[in-house]
Amino acid sequence: MMSDFTKNDYLNLVKTLNKYSAEYYVHDKPSISDASYDSLYGTLLKEEAQNPCWLVSYSPSQRVGDKPLDEFTSVTHAVAMYSLDNAFSDEDLANFLNRIEPDKSKQDKLVLSAEPKMDGLAINLRYKKGLFVQASTRGDGRVGEDVTHNIKTIRSIPMQLKGSQFPDVLEVRGEVFISHAAFKALNEKQLQAGDKPFANPRNAAAGSLRQLDPKVASQRQLSFYLYGWGELSADWAVAGNYYDMIEQFAKWGLPKNPDSQMVSGLKGILDYYEFLSKKRANLPYEIDGIVYKLNSIQKQRDLGFTAKAPRWAIARKFPAQEVWTKLLGIDIQVGRTGALTPVARLEPVSVGGVVVANATLHNLDEIERKDVRIGDTVIVRRAGDVIPEVVGPVLNQRPEHTTLFEMPLECPECQSEVVRELDKAVYRCMGGLICPAQRKRALQHFVSKKALDIVGLGNKLIDQLVESNLVHHPDDFFSLTLESLLGLDRMAEKSALKVLSAIQKAKQTTFSRFIYSLGIPEVGEVTAMNLANFFKNLPALEKADLETLISISDVGDIVADHIQHFFQQPHNLTVIQNLLEQGVHWPEPEEVAIPSSSAFSGKVMVLTGTFESMGRADAKKQLEALGAKITGSVSAKTDYVVAGEKAGSKKTKAEQLGVVVLTEQAWLEMMAEEA
Ligand code: NAD
Repeated sequence: MMSDFTKNDYLNLVKTLNKYSAEYYVHDKPSISDASYDSLYGTLLKEEAQNPCWLVSYSPSQRVGDKPLDEFTSVTHAVAMYSLDNAFSDEDLANFLNRIEPDKSKQDKLVLSAEPKMDGLAINLRYKKGLFVQASTRGDGRVGEDVTHNIKTIRSIPMQLKGSQFPDVLEVRGEVFISHAAFKALNEKQLQAGDKPFANPRNAAAGSLRQLDPKVASQRQLSFYLYGWGELSADWAVAGNYYDMIEQFAKWGLPKNPDSQMVSGLKGILDYYEFLSKKRANLPYEIDGIVYKLNSIQKQRDLGFTAKAPRWAIARKFPAQEVWTKLLGIDIQVGRTGALTPVARLEPVSVGGVVVANATLHNLDEIERKDVRIGDTVIVRRAGDVIPEVVGPVLNQRPEHTTLFEMPLECPECQSEVVRELDKAVYRCMGGLICPAQRKRALQHFVSKKALDIVGLGNKLIDQLVESNLVHHPDDFFSLTLESLLGLDRMAEKSALKVLSAIQKAKQTTFSRFIYSLGIPEVGEVTAMNLANFFKNLPALEKADLETLISISDVGDIVADHIQHFFQQPHNLTVIQNLLEQGVHWPEPEEVAIPSSSAFSGKVMVLTGTFESMGRADAKKQLEALGAKITGSVSAKTDYVVAGEKAGSKKTKAEQLGVVVLTEQAWLEMMAEEA
């Protein structure tokens, strides 16, 4: 069948790829993803193989990299710097072996160096009589840029070689890259300074080295691993194989990659791929594949180079972890606690070998900070088992019309009001009692020991009741019948009767337990007691204004805000009304004895470390019974920190903030005085 691809299409493709190459290599500002570039480049190679007469000398298949920038002094390489041919599958690797050793029976004995392919940029380091004199980028392979001033800031690169007996002129080649940790720190700094974060570690490394001011590179913690050499003066005998050469350079003080290995034959090649794929997520730096190189230098010489790459080496690329795709929309997911998370709806795309159609956007602050808009082309990243996330927009691909995202005012699940937590980036649905997304958790809380204490209604039974549509809200528990319960899987009559009787019994409760059972965010047992004591009856609590709420011991701005919003939701009020109609009741007015004269009443306390006298849960219980509020983290509002054995950061923080730190002994003595 004749292909539709014409010579004109081919020339256009060359032009397009050359434009992308210049953006990528010269300006460190790619305008398409590497995966898309590789796919177009694959088409180019295929067409050139099928139509050799079309080939033009300026095709990217005939060139390494691109022209160096004028701002830097040019360096003509004594020995050309090549790129690498790519393999994308096991079959490509088998073909590579067949090319370098057509006799299959000899392939098993073929030794190759297998190395992580760091995602940074290639550098040539020149030493004269053991002293570092010059560093240059690869550029177009023949001419690169002089980046000596920046390379000097990389601590792991020796300015003077160790030992003696090195060639007079020695050129080492390797990759300058940035570790994950340094990349993260750099991007945080960029954001703090109001600058754009780097899209990926390669861009960060290249952008740092290709700076005129060495101060910039010195702050960026760049790393270097060697993987080859350029000019070596004739006074020095080259070893018989590649690996011995690398060992020799390492002895002179040049850092080599500890994860490189020698392998043999196709099995060795594929095993190493398995090994490194698994290790990839735990490596401290980004890799985009594996490089395999023939070990025998004589065989390397026999095979030689194409216009672009050595014939004795190949780069097996991993499936891309970072790809570009269209952001079609932003949906909202409501979590079990009512927190709203924006989720990107994407044009489906393969990332790290898996098709991804959704990715997390974390929260509104992140969307605004990254300036992500609906309609944008976005960078999507999925590393290992991590949930795919949107890294940011590709600004030079932004279409004319994009839509800014806004948080909905109503919960998409239950239409209750959505409120931003006072001091956090979290938006929360206020329909705790009726929201389907929060249902199971709300029901579990409602029946728990400190709430209505319905014995026999365990999590599994609640799951069954929700899934079979018998219970939607807590009031539905009270209309369960023997018949409906017996319809559930593995429910015997005896257990069903027990559950029904526990439900009946729970109707008689206390006001404070009832308040606690509603699951209002941040309203724990003690706050519920304080509210019950203060308001004495439900209508008073439902109508309470912020000022009154804040005046109550243990209720701050945030809790008051939650309480008010909770009782403003008509759906929540309906459920409460139904509960009362079903017969839930308590003695009114109720007084719960919270010792107000206790040294701990109203005190905000943090427990840390291990205690000799009791477990932490017991300590918490005893202190709460004395009116203390136990929180998880130390702040200026904390009154006491009780520090047991091995107390760590919380104790230190308390000391820094001037919060009183009690030893277990001192605390027990204070407790004894309350008894
Ligand atoms: P490459 O990055 O695929 O491979 C060659 C490079 O690998 C070497 O120059 C060296 O820097 C590096 N390397 C890392 N570890 C190595 C090791 N152990 N041994 C030897 N080399 C090692 O080739 P390239 O020519 O630098 O870049 C081509 C790739 O760049 C394409 O596959 C594409 O993904 C990307 N690209 C993207 C765009 C774009 O617009 N997005 C444009 C051009 C190129």
